[in-house]
Amino acid sequence: MFEYHPSSQHLAGKKILITGASDGIGRANAICFAEHGAELLLLGRNQEKLEQLFDEIEEKSPSKVTIHPMDFAKARAEDYSGLADSLDKHFPVIDGLIHNAAQLGTLCPVEYYPDNDWETLINVNLNAVFHLTKAAMPSLKRSEDARLLFISSSVGRKGRAYWGGYGVSKFALEGLMQTLADELSSTSNIRVNSLNPGGTRTAMRQAAYPAEDPHSQPEAESLMPVYLYLLGPEAAHIHGQALDARDFDPSTLNTVEGT
Ligand code: NDP
Repeated sequence: MFEYHPSSQHLAGKKILITGASDGIGRANAICFAEHGAELLLLGRNQEKLEQLFDEIEEKSPSKVTIHPMDFAKARAEDYSGLADSLDKHFPVIDGLIHNAAQLGTLCPVEYYPDNDWETLINVNLNAVFHLTKAAMPSLKRSEDARLLFISSSVGRKGRAYWGGYGVSKFALEGLMQTLADELSSTSNIRVNSLNPGGTRTAMRQAAYPAEDPHSQPEAESLMPVYLYLLGPEAAHIHGQALDARDFDPSTLNTVEGT
């Protein structure tokens, strides 16, 4: 695993939006980024879990967190335009957006995939990402050095039987990442990448592999050096890349033209 130990001020002055912050990897992101000085806007569908996290972070880092409950399965276009107005007013600059929230959905052959499950999954894993990216784009463009990170999966890079809806949604995120990376490379200071965390000890992993010993997988906290690096100034040259947390090595990555 990648070793990186930046100072506690590594993300000072940075405003970062994380989706799916109430649990798993997103929760670890929130705690770690607050410990490194960032100001956070945390989205999730469960208000109670978000409030618990808010209290936990506030205790150590007062006035650093805003929470915004939002269920991506039910959100409509007007909810995203309301969010866009709110971001423009309260978060006019966003330095990092991590599209982390996702659902696993049903694991079964495509021919038996339930229609309603497919639609819900695509709403959460893809449509929410599209709408939220649009809503946050003005604030991201005002940053001097912004990061847009799509959280992917190995099944979003190579198709695998029975992972239909989830795998397809992650493939779509890779496409959105590449399209945005191309659009934004010369017109903004936004650096766009995708990251596959790899197997991680969370509720989603347990749901996907119920017979597996959870302790065979690393904890979400062990991934945080990779996220810290990607959000920090040393990653300003990384753009349009499909990254893997497990074998992350910045010295092997392509750079942006001119940097
Ligand atoms: P978890 O299931 O632990 O957490 C997912 C987060 O997304 C939770 O905060 C959850 O909220 C939120 N979420 C789910 N549905 C919605 C919704 N409808 N609206 C808003 N928020 C929602 O997953 P992980 O932490 O394991 O996964 C994080 C990311 O990493 C995902 O994108 C996943 O695909 C990816 N990933 C994970 C791997 C792993 O092994 N864990 C491997 C490869 C990729 P709530 O707390 O209410 O459930």
